[in-house]
This record gives sequence, C-alpha cells and structure tokens, in this order.
Amino acid sequence: MIFSKKKITTEYTVEQCTKCGTLTKRKFNHGDVLFATLLKCASCDGHTRIEKIFGETVEQ
Ligand SMILES: [Zn+2]
Repeated sequence: MIFSKKKITTEYTVEQCTKCGTLTKRKFNHGDVLFATLLKCASCDGHTRIEKIFGETVEQ
C-alpha cells in the first residue's frame, strides 16, 4: 500500500435558529457543545442552537 495521499479532516458546526430555522454552517470552534444555545440570530431576534457537529475528510 502506498500512503502518498494526505487526508485532512475539518470539523464543522451547524447552527440553527430556534425561531426562524436559518441554518449556519461554520468551522468547529473548540468548546462547541451539541444543542448548546448560542448567539443571537442574524435574521431575526431568536437564538441559534448547535444542531450538528461533523467532520469532512478531504484527500489532498
Ligand atoms: Zn432567526
């Protein structure tokens, strides 16, 4: 087997507004916890909640 390809895993956090449902995908920040309520929504006066944390592996 040849291990010439380099794999990089990037973790992402998906936030969803509990009021208007707007989804925001951003890079994972250390300290993100699933279902934690976070910041004010950019589109309405609701708050966003972390709905999903996942990793994407890219071969370089
Ligand atoms: Zn909203």
